[in-house]
Parts: sequence; structure tokens; C-alpha cells
Amino acid sequence: MPKSIPFFDLAALHQPIKQELDDAMARVAASGQFVGGDFLERFEVEWAEYCGTRFSVGVSNGTVALELALRALGVGEGDEVIVPANTFIATWEAIVAARAVPVPIDVDPHSLLMTSDAIESACSTRTAAIMVVHLFGQPVDMDAVMRVAKRRRLFVVEDAAQAHGAVWNGRRAGSIGDAGCFSFYPGKNLGAFGDAGAVVTNDPQIAARVGALSNHGRSPNDGARHESIGGNGRLDGLQAAILSTKLPHLDDWNASRRKIFNAYSRALTTLPVTMVAAHGSGSSAHHLAVIQTAARDEVRRRLAANGIGTGVHYPIPCHQQPAFAALESTKLPVTERSAERILSLPLGPYLTRDDVGFVVTTLRRVLDEIGPPIQATRSRPVSIPFGPAPAPIVLNVRGSV
Ligand SMILES: *Cc1c(COP(=O)(O)O)cnc(C)c1O
Repeated sequence: MPKSIPFFDLAALHQPIKQELDDAMARVAASGQFVGGDFLERFEVEWAEYCGTRFSVGVSNGTVALELALRALGVGEGDEVIVPANTFIATWEAIVAARAVPVPIDVDPHSLLMTSDAIESACSTRTAAIMVVHLFGQPVDMDAVMRVAKRRRLFVVEDAAQAHGAVWNGRRAGSIGDAGCFSFYPGKNLGAFGDAGAVVTNDPQIAARVGALSNHGRSPNDGARHESIGGNGRLDGLQAAILSTKLPHLDDWNASRRKIFNAYSRALTTLPVTMVAAHGSGSSAHHLAVIQTAARDEVRRRLAANGIGTGVHYPIPCHQQPAFAALESTKLPVTERSAERILSLPLGPYLTRDDVGFVVTTLRRVLDEIGPPIQATRSRPVSIPFGPAPAPIVLNVRGSV
């Protein structure tokens, strides 16, 4: 059978710890502690400890984590939140769900991360918060971000959904701003058996507010009293138990990701592609191994024909999504150009040296076949090729120029 390497293989990740995972699920089933209870509390303590924060509040997914963090900080109606556009749409949805307004900024062309200069230029009198996105596992320069935030008295929320275990200057991604938000979607570096998320913070008030908002505004002392209007954004006991079982393996998995990422980096120096590189004093969680090539779509097709799965994170920047049609005229040249060139290679802790060799050899052959000079032939899509666009949310937006 010809070799085949899926983009990500959860079965391969879980196979070595299958017994531990089965035992954890059996323990939850026997205990009946499905909502709230010991498994949730245990994971919250462990995750806070891992991140180096005082508190961690488990919530139902990463999108809810982002929304509740903003609401807990009091970010709301009419407030502007500075955010990159090369992120999963959830980052933006959370800002809108909090009734605030996303103000997009462009990114650094090498790291594709937001910079403090761009943040400065996007600030207005209505700016309330900076939404940092540690994209692909690489931490943003948090020293620079925190300097701007301090000077301008802005909140900082970290979207660390791709950065479990990443470190900036000795501190974990997610632990540096006012609140850090994690997704434990199955494909993340630490993933549950379904949807899950968490907010970490050192501020007891923020932790308490996120806890209340995620659990119907309940008083911590009296479950019958509802002190604020919250909702249901809780993390299940079953997911918490799975996460507690997988957490002790996270550092080893991240170390394997780093080895594979570095092997790609070394091999690709001789090829006509660039790898999205880490920068500064950050230590990446290596969530994704992303290359840039002008012939992205053709490379992707040919890799697929050779049994190699890839991803694109993300093909349409948020400000160009139909849902955010109000931002149509916003121009973010680096973000827009990179969206046409980025390609995520297979990256999982279970990949062998042979697997990585196969990807590199195939990529080299495919690039040879396409041949230099590589010309971009694809023009920007003007509409989304599936279904009618839903009615756009009308936003009071201020585009960044
Ligand atoms: C996955 C992801 C989210 C959303 O998390 P969910 O758990 O799927 O809701 C948010 N931001 C980024 C950058 C992500 O990668």
C-alpha cells in the first residue's frame, strides 16, 4: 500500500495511552460526576499550575472562553478591541458576542504575528482591549504588547488556543495578559474528546466572573441564587478527566513537535519555500508547521495526490469574510498576501523520522514538477463558493488603514 500521512491523526496520538484514557472515562462513568465535581476541579487546579496562573476556569470551548474573558473584564457595547485578521473566526465572534467591535491590524511578514507598532497605530479613545493571538503556537512579543497596554490602560486578552505550553520570556502563553483563553478542541496541542476550553488569570475577580457567567450567574455559596445573567458555558467532568489524563504528556508531545518542526525547517532551507518562523525570545508550542509558497493550491493538490494531507490556516482572513462585510474596504496587505501562500504540513507528535522524510521528499519532487519560477496564478476569490451568505452583522466598525 502506498504511504499516506493524514494532516493530523488523533487515533495515532491516543493509541499509546489508550488504557489510561479508557480508565479515566470508566472512572467518570462510575462516579456520575458529569457536570461540576471532582474531575472538573482537579483539571482546573492542574491547568492553572501548568500555566503558572492563580486560577483556571473550565468552560465549554475556546470561543466561549474568549467571550466570557472579555465580558468578565467589562468589555462591551461600543468598546473597540484590536485584533489580527489572520486567526480563526472564533476570535472575532467572541468580540462581537461581547457586543464590542473588532478593529483589525496587519501582522509581521515573517512571523505573521501582531506587532506593538500596529497596535499603537490602531488605538483610539474607544479602544478597550488588545486581543493577542499566539498563532501557530508562536508567542507574540508580550513585553511589547504589555508596554502599550500599560501606557494606554488597555486590557489584554490572550487567545492561546494554538499555544498550549508556549513560553514568552519565562512565562506561559496565556498567563501574561489579564486573561488567557484556551481551546481543547481535539486537534489542539492539548485536546479533549469533544469541545472544551478554559480561561486562566491571576485576578480572583475575573476568575469568579467567568465562573459565574459560565454557570447561569450562580452564587458560589448558594446555587439557587442567580446574581448575574450568565448562561451555560461549563466544562464537562468527562472532558476534564480526559484532559487531566493527557496533560502529563503535553510537554513530551510538544518536544516531539519541536523536533519535527526543526527537521522540516532544516530540510526546507534548500527549497523555494519559506517557513513561518518563530522570533524573539519566544518558545513556540509548534501547533502548526506552516510554509509559504506562491503555488500553494497546486502544491496542496499534488501533495494530496501523493497521500499527504495538509491544511490552510486560514484561507480567508476574518475581515474578508462575508460575515464581516462591513469591513470590506479594510486593507491588510501582509495578511491578505499570506492567506494565498500559507500551507500547513502534517505535524503530530507520533510522526516518525521516515514520515517527515517522506513529506520532505515528496514536497521537493512536487516543487520540482511545478518548476521555477513559481508564479501565482490564482486571483482572489470574490465570493464564497458555498451557499448564500448569511445576512451580515451590521457593525459599527472602524477599519484600520
Ligand atoms: C481553535 C481556536 C479557537 C476556538 O476554539 P473552539 O474550542 O473551537 O471554540 C479560537 N481561536 C483560535 C486561534 C483557535 O485556533
